[in-house]
Amino acid sequence: MSKTAHIIGAGISGLSAAVRLANAGFKVAVHEATQQAGGRCRSYFDGATNLVIDNGNHLLLSGNRHALAYARSIGTEAGLVGPARAQFPFVDLKTGQRWQLDLGDSRLPGWVFDESRRVPDTGLTDYLKLAPLIWASEETLVGKSIPCEGVLYQRLVQPLLLAALNVDPPEGSAGLAGAIVRETLLAGGQACRPLIARDGLSAVLIEPAVKFLTERGHSVQLGHELRSFTTTDGKVSALNFGGEDVVAIAPDDVIVMAVPPRAAASLLPGVKTPTQFRAIVNAHFRFEPPPGSAPILGVIGGVVEWLFAFPNRLSVTISNGDRLVEMPREELAQTIWNDVCMAGGVAGELPPWQIVRERRATFAATPEQNALRPGPVTALKNLFLAGDWTATGLPATIEGSVRSGDRAADLVLAAQRT
Ligand SMILES: Cc1cc2nc3c(=O)[nH]c(=O)nc-3n(C[C@H](O)[C@H](O)[C@H](O)COP(=O)(O)OP(=O)(O)OC[C@H]3O[C@@H](n4cnc5c(N)ncnc54)[C@H](O)[C@@H]3O)c2cc1C
Repeated sequence: MSKTAHIIGAGISGLSAAVRLANAGFKVAVHEATQQAGGRCRSYFDGATNLVIDNGNHLLLSGNRHALAYARSIGTEAGLVGPARAQFPFVDLKTGQRWQLDLGDSRLPGWVFDESRRVPDTGLTDYLKLAPLIWASEETLVGKSIPCEGVLYQRLVQPLLLAALNVDPPEGSAGLAGAIVRETLLAGGQACRPLIARDGLSAVLIEPAVKFLTERGHSVQLGHELRSFTTTDGKVSALNFGGEDVVAIAPDDVIVMAVPPRAAASLLPGVKTPTQFRAIVNAHFRFEPPPGSAPILGVIGGVVEWLFAFPNRLSVTISNGDRLVEMPREELAQTIWNDVCMAGGVAGELPPWQIVRERRATFAATPEQNALRPGPVTALKNLFLAGDWTATGLPATIEGSVRSGDRAADLVLAAQRT
């Protein structure tokens, strides 16, 4: 283990690169600026609800190959749990109508041919109109590619693309939306089973990776922010963590920078990065879900978009949430709780709650912002980029993050072989 891989940033992208490189024989040193690993995918104790909560409810799908392989490699795939079949219950708060989308368990999207399994009041031709997304370019707008109106749009396409792109779907990149459709709806139910880290994001996706690394003699340093680096002959030759804390980089050492866009732009002047971001709002209520509650319920016609039922807790996700960022917290909590009562079939005064507003949750997945995503290779021979905002071909998701980490690690390994 003579070569060291320095991983800057202990989010999912950095940790996935770290685990892959550790498995390939590198000595790995992870440097994380904050006091907690996980970045935008983490859990913490919340005093208001007296519960451990996640910064945001994160949904994975069974077709997220890289994310599941990452979980398998750190021994926690079983911690991602969900129903046996790809079924998604929905409720429309305006009409009270409830239905279930049943994508089945096949490798083919046969469900679109079965009226009882598809969205109510939709026909096969509605689904065929989504076909242009499958081959759309990343520069095309969703709104120019498919009809953004009608029953199928309101009941399925809008909620799916809003959650995946974190922008109002018509302004989103059709190419990125197409990647989602290809890897989910088109890949049949076997790729669409919803999976949730029921015991918390940190317990399932973060702490086991840190343990995996440290138990094998690698290091994960928290509170260790990279401030700048020195270059010599087109390579990084030293990492500066402030003051006397300078780490020399040996000729065969490599660096994977897996920090968010702003940090990357300040560390690596000249690197292209997305410049616009969108908020995601999560609300957590200390409330025991009624028996039989769906683990995840799609909600349309209200403020709430997805309702998650955890032990002791009902939690809500609202994407593209910039409009809610300045709303007084109590008012927002009450508004969301009113929707939760209707959607979840519960009643009562506002229980202990917490609102988490991640203002810069993801880059805005529009064609313009997508064009600003750099690849993993930099002008410096031993420095590679990872992160959900790099050019992964996917919107900012856990799957995209792990793919970016895997890709950076694979490039490191390929460079070693040449
Ligand atoms: C509220 C919310 C809900 C979400 N829901 C979903 C979902 O349902 N499904 C899904 O797939 N995805 C979801 N996502 C997206 C997913 O969380 C992100 O794509 C993923 O966590 C990004 O990981 P990352 O490692 O690329 O970046 P980050 O998590 O941002 O990690 C970067 C790390 O680098 C560290 N860092 C920064 N600067 C430095 C420095 N100079 N030196 C050292 N370290 C540094 C940061 O502290 C951070 O820990 C959601 C995101 C949010 C915020």
